[in-house]
Amino acid sequence: MHAPTYSPQNVSHLESGSASLPARLKVVVLKPLAEDQMAALRKHHEVVVLSSYTSAEALDAALRDALHDAHGLISSGLTITPSLLDAAPQLRVICSVSVGYDNYPLEAMNARGILLCNTPDVLTETTADTGFLLIMATARRAVELANLVREGHWKHNIGEAHFGSDVHGKTLGMVGMGRIGAAIARRGALGFGMRVQYSNASPKPELEAELGAHRVELDTLLESSDFVCVTVPLSPETERLIGQRELEKMSSHAILINIARGRVVDEAALIACLESGGIRGAGLDVFEQEPLPAESPLTRLPQVVALPHIGSATHETRHAMAQRALDNLLLALKGQSPLSAVNVSHWTRKG
Ligand code: NAP
Repeated sequence: MHAPTYSPQNVSHLESGSASLPARLKVVVLKPLAEDQMAALRKHHEVVVLSSYTSAEALDAALRDALHDAHGLISSGLTITPSLLDAAPQLRVICSVSVGYDNYPLEAMNARGILLCNTPDVLTETTADTGFLLIMATARRAVELANLVREGHWKHNIGEAHFGSDVHGKTLGMVGMGRIGAAIARRGALGFGMRVQYSNASPKPELEAELGAHRVELDTLLESSDFVCVTVPLSPETERLIGQRELEKMSSHAILINIARGRVVDEAALIACLESGGIRGAGLDVFEQEPLPAESPLTRLPQVVALPHIGSATHETRHAMAQRALDNLLLALKGQSPLSAVNVSHWTRKG
């Protein structure tokens, strides 16, 4: 998930709908929805859209101001702090346009009875496509070799120095076998004849039966996988789950894929490991700091494919995610159960 960037101009954009109907509540929108979705939202509630700001401080001030009497918030990558919740005494629900919710203060929301909704399922297949794109692109050196063509350096037939490695028939190690992990594993096992092994909090017997997958300890997975693909959520338990010790367990021909969250992998350790040839390459959609600073070695190592956090970024899927967030919000503000949420049992339901 991105930390939002703010435009260099001090462009602030506030829109308010009418508050004529008594049942209308106030909703702050940080992640603009499609036009049809915004129209549906305005039909039911008073809407305040906060978009571009010169700085995080300017956004924080505007957000605090807008939240003081707000009942709902639609957001995405911004880190929401307990202090922001203190500025929002009437807040009933936050709907994130994302499945991951590591940027929300869940305990503080639970303590205040605020519901947190997310958007699982609708992004699973698209994010799995991106994960597999990274597997293919790193193994076959697609970006490096496409750049060679683009820069006019394709003068001879490609030789061994530019060969990649096969994907089909290799061993795919899934660190996390939830919705997205299973969808990537399915692509590997059924589409590419890969052997699948996984480490996960709980066993997945149905996936073992479907894909012939084996659950193994993380160390075993690291030692014996050609591709190690990280799909666990970021949490205190998974932060830097893949550090120097774990990277050293991987084979020098293996490739690391991270489609989860940047902080699940120790980025400095990964850079050191790539620079010393400890592993063959890395395919990364997520980073400790986003956007990835231009000076990061990850931007220039040829064996790294770095994407700008585009796991779910297709027209269809982003629209579906926004629709899910909207549906969740409309239901929750009526006091009805949302389609997907992470803390319903702590919610102080008001109709
Ligand atoms: P999910 O279905 O909840 O899957 C997460 C899996 O991780 C679950 O199987 C869970 O085990 C396992 N897990 C959790 N903590 C663990 C731990 N400490 N050790 C081992 N396994 C652990 O979630 P999802 O929908 O697949 O999404 C996964 C993550 O992908 C999200 O949280 C988000 O951060 C990231 N994501 C990234 C993008 C992107 O644009 N790059 C897009 C979407 C999502 P159990 O099954 O036992 O609970």
